[in-house]
Amino acid sequence: MADRVVTLNAGSSSVKFALFAADADWPRLIVTGAIEGLGAKPRFRVDVVDGEAHDAPLGRKLTHRRAIAAIFEWIEDAYPAAAISAIGHRVVHGGLRFSAPVIVDAETLTALREFIPLAPLHQPHNLAGIEGACEAFPHVPQVACFDTAFHRGHAFVDDAYALPYSYYERGLRRFGFHGLSYEYIARRLRAIDPIHAEGGVIVAHLGNGASLCAMKGGRSIATTMGFSALEGLPMGTRCGEIDPGLLLYLLESEGMTPDELSHLLYERSGLLGLSGLSHDMRALEASEEPRAQAAIAYFIHRTKMEIAALTAVIGGLDALVFTAGIGERSPRVRAGVVEGLAWLGLALDATANARNNPIVSASRSRVPVFVTPTDEEAMIARHTIETAGLSDAGR
Ligand code: AMP
Repeated sequence: MADRVVTLNAGSSSVKFALFAADADWPRLIVTGAIEGLGAKPRFRVDVVDGEAHDAPLGRKLTHRRAIAAIFEWIEDAYPAAAISAIGHRVVHGGLRFSAPVIVDAETLTALREFIPLAPLHQPHNLAGIEGACEAFPHVPQVACFDTAFHRGHAFVDDAYALPYSYYERGLRRFGFHGLSYEYIARRLRAIDPIHAEGGVIVAHLGNGASLCAMKGGRSIATTMGFSALEGLPMGTRCGEIDPGLLLYLLESEGMTPDELSHLLYERSGLLGLSGLSHDMRALEASEEPRAQAAIAYFIHRTKMEIAALTAVIGGLDALVFTAGIGERSPRVRAGVVEGLAWLGLALDATANARNNPIVSASRSRVPVFVTPTDEEAMIARHTIETAGLSDAGR
C-alpha cells in the first residue's frame, strides 16, 4: 500500500486538512476537510473524493491542538488501515533562512518562532498546528512548507526597499507570499504548455489574498507582496499598495495606535473598505451599489497596472495565468484585466471566458491566457513526500 500523508493548514480560526496517498507520479487526494469557527461555534466538515460530504457542529470552543487531535481521531476512525507516514504543514514565513521545505526538529521550531513578528496573524497558528501534530504523532516526520520559499532567489532590486542598506542586511526585505500556489501553477503550466512555461509568465493569484508573480523558466523573479502580505494588489480586506506617508499621517496627526492601524490595513480595507458592503467579489458583482462597482474597478485597475510593471521586469510576457477564487471564477475581473492589456497583444475569447475554460484567450491573442485552478495542499503533500523520502518520484 502507498504511504499516506496528511497536510495541515492551521489558520486563526480554522484548521484545514487533507489526506493523500503518496502515489509515484503525484499525490492522490483521498479526503479533504476542515474544522472551522474554532473560537466560537466549531464545525467539522469533510469532503471525501468520490464519496460523501459531512458537515457537523462540534458543540464547544476548541484550541488548535484539540482540533488537530479531533482531525486525527476522525482519520483513524474513517481509515483504520491508513498508516500516516508523514505530515506536511503550511507555514507562511520561512524568513531568509528557508528556501525549501524542511523536516521540523526542535531547533527548526525555535527558528520558526523567531519569524512570528514578521507574520503575527498567521505564523503563531501555523506553529500551533505543528506542535499539535507533533504531540499526536511524535515519531512521524513533520515537514514545514513555506509560502515565502519560492521567492527566495530574487535579485537585489526585486528584494530591497530603498531604506539604508543596513535594513536590507538585517532582513527587512520583500519576501513575497503565495509561493506554494505559484510553485504548483509553474508545474501545471509545464505540463499544459511546456514552451510558454519556459518563457516570461505572470501568474495572478486572485483570491481573498491577492498577489502576482512574474516567473522565467518556472522560477519566481518578482512578486507584488513584499515584507508583509499587505503590499501590492488590493485584497478582500487588505489595502495593498499605499503611500507610507499616509500611515505616518494616521499615526501622528490622527492619533491612531499601531493596533488600530493594523486592524484598519488588514481587516477593514481592500474590497470591503472601498465598497462598505463586502470583502467577497461575488457579493460585489451581484450588487448595483456604485461603491461596489468602484471597488471592482479599483481591483481591476491595480491588477492591470501591476501586470504591466512586472512585464517590464521580465522583459515581455509569454503567458498570463489566472488562479484562486476570483481568478478561476470571475469572467468579469479577467475581462477587465485582459482588455486593459490589449496593447500588450492580449485578446480574450468571450465565450471561453464566460465558461471559465482552461484557455480564455482568443486564437489571435499574441499571449495565451490560462485559467488554472491552484492546489496548495497537493503541493504541500508533494514536498512532504519528497522531503520525508517516501518516494523517489520526480527526483
Ligand atoms: P479564495 O481566497 O481563493 O477562496 O477566493 C475567494 C474569493 O473568490 C472571494 O472574493 C469570492 O467572492 C471569489 N469568488 C469565488 N467564486 C466566485 C465567482 N463565481 N465569481 C466571482 N468571484 C468568486
